[in-house]
Amino acid sequence: MPDLTSDIRYIKGIGEQRAKSLARLGIRTLGDLLHYFPRTYEDRTVFRPIGEVLPEETACLRAMVATEPRLTHVRRGMDLVKLRIVDESGSADVTYFNQSYVRDQLVKGESYVFYGKMGGTLLRRTLTNPVYEREDRAGVTTGRILPVYRLTHGISNKLLITAMESGLEACGDMLPELLPGDVTARYSLPKVGFAYRNVHFPPDFPTLALARRRLIFEELFVLSCAMHLLREKRERAAGRRIPTPDMEEFYASLPFAPTAAQRRAVSQALRDMASGQCMSRLVQGDVGSGKTLVAAALLWSVWKAGYQSAFMAPTEILAGQHLQTLAGFLEPLGMRLGLLKGSLTARQKREVKAAAEGGALDVVIGTHALITEDVQFADLGLVVTDEQHRFGVEQRSALTAKGERPHVLVMSATPIPRTLALMIYGDLDVSVLDELPPGRQKVETVSVTESYRERLNGFIRSQVAEGRQVFVVCPMVEESEEADPKIKSATEHAAALQKTFPELTVGCVHGKMKAKEKDAAMDAFVRGETDILVSTTVVEVGVDVANASLMIVENADRFGLSQLHQLRGRVGRGVHKSWCVLVSDGPTEEAKQRLRVLVQTSDGFAVAEEDLRLRGPGDFFGSRQHGLPEMHIADLFGSMDMVEEARTAAKAVIERDPELADPELAPLRNHIRTLFALNENTWN
Ligand code: ADP
Ligand code: MG
Repeated sequence: MPDLTSDIRYIKGIGEQRAKSLARLGIRTLGDLLHYFPRTYEDRTVFRPIGEVLPEETACLRAMVATEPRLTHVRRGMDLVKLRIVDESGSADVTYFNQSYVRDQLVKGESYVFYGKMGGTLLRRTLTNPVYEREDRAGVTTGRILPVYRLTHGISNKLLITAMESGLEACGDMLPELLPGDVTARYSLPKVGFAYRNVHFPPDFPTLALARRRLIFEELFVLSCAMHLLREKRERAAGRRIPTPDMEEFYASLPFAPTAAQRRAVSQALRDMASGQCMSRLVQGDVGSGKTLVAAALLWSVWKAGYQSAFMAPTEILAGQHLQTLAGFLEPLGMRLGLLKGSLTARQKREVKAAAEGGALDVVIGTHALITEDVQFADLGLVVTDEQHRFGVEQRSALTAKGERPHVLVMSATPIPRTLALMIYGDLDVSVLDELPPGRQKVETVSVTESYRERLNGFIRSQVAEGRQVFVVCPMVEESEEADPKIKSATEHAAALQKTFPELTVGCVHGKMKAKEKDAAMDAFVRGETDILVSTTVVEVGVDVANASLMIVENADRFGLSQLHQLRGRVGRGVHKSWCVLVSDGPTEEAKQRLRVLVQTSDGFAVAEEDLRLRGPGDFFGSRQHGLPEMHIADLFGSMDMVEEARTAAKAVIERDPELADPELAPLRNHIRTLFALNENTWN
């Protein structure tokens, strides 16, 4: 008896080779197969008389083959089969390229169903390579709504359809029902088996909509339940009490006065840490809002209480910069900071680790190395992670597991609309830094096309002549990645700029460089030795160069709005008037409208709200920027209402049954556990 965990080779026609190809699509078991949702659908249900189909229209036709199919060799490697089809309303000339077998399959005088896009003119209609089926056996590839799957080499859509049919046949009834009965009833959702059958093979579009609604709801519901559970668990967990110190002592040591928002975030976190429970707080603040200072204040408080802290950054560049900034705040007060990163020598790593373990360091700053290098702390009180969206829930908990329940502070510069934040960060308390330090200038933003290139080069020249530095961001690393020559690559564009400005120093930094080279290129820019730094989005997060006054984004229409906003935040960090120039070559009307949002507003939350409004939440769930488990279907939808509904439903279920102990909820419980790699302790 097959079940959802059975190997995909169970299906007739899928052997070693095809199983390998399917694995590339993430399909290894029958369960994976059923979860492989269509990318889109083709409506092949509408039959039209030939004489009514206009050129460029796509339709199904019921027609008779009127001429003997003729095969001609045009030249080597190019065969044509030509024939004519007719119905009562008209006729069309059909051509197949390099499918000589068609000559023997299509028989003069017989009727078939054809599906394809009409070409030619009203007087002489043509069809090229239309799909066909014998009329008496039609219904597999014509006359239906055809699911269209994402494919890979060696796997055709037809194969997936056949496999899906067998898969559903074999275990369509074994799919676990994750939604409790009262939820499906209350929100008028179909049962799981119905949803899977109809998302793959919908008889009509309303049924498809119903099936999809159910699957999207389920995904959001599961996520919401998991977040509620994590929060419940945390609220029950005891944490060390960190007595609240006199913060004025710390604030007085600073070169500037903290903003009201910074003070508020610090005291909210201090209250958490003094409460006897474990803190899990997110500090959300736009680029430049001063999150680092908030972290510094807490590192200091934890040190005052006699504990160590760990500080995690997403890249080595950022970890290095954080060390510098934090050391500036904290070393004068007597604290000892260390840096652990992948590129250190084995010996250096050993030293840092020994110092952390022996308590000779008060704060250890690092990248993922902090998790992977197995660092032990003498007494870890607080874990800070910067730019949290790059760290997954699991990574967060891996680090947390290092100490005996340290307090956790995560910092994010990605403003997320409130409704989504509740879903994504449901397990965290949130402080918002909604105020920029005084004297901060607005970054002047303009959106231009290629025709502006000469003037832009002139502007670069004048900025550098005034002693400033310039960031240029490109969407990709190397030219070969994409066929479209309009898309600029960092390496080629850097070379081109160096040619344009032989008198200037042009640097380049991108994700494919070795950490050492990357650091060297970045350092040179930070020290002011490079005038222009061309990069990919590696500079997106955090890097602080006060002397940079111009950010140029090439092919700006290829970036998300929030990402562009982040990039813009790289300039305007010093006293100099700063600009952000968004260059795009022939953007669509929609792209222009999106870029206009950035020109008009400098508030990151407003940008995020607008992005959400223009593109729907799907993009957000699809981006994987949030560090949540992969979403299969929620990235296909466009409604915020459902996010709300799923959240409400999840909350009600968890409030009623916080342990998910009801046998009806066992599938949900198991599913959440696997999805978030939670261990049994989470439930106790
Ligand atoms: P982000 O929130 O983007 O991480 P940072 O912590 O890097 O922002 O702070 C941005 C800049 O603002 C830094 O140069 C920092 O020294 C400065 N800064 C932070 N807080 C204040 C303040 N209250 N007054 C003036 N400057 C500040
Ligand atoms: Mg920062």
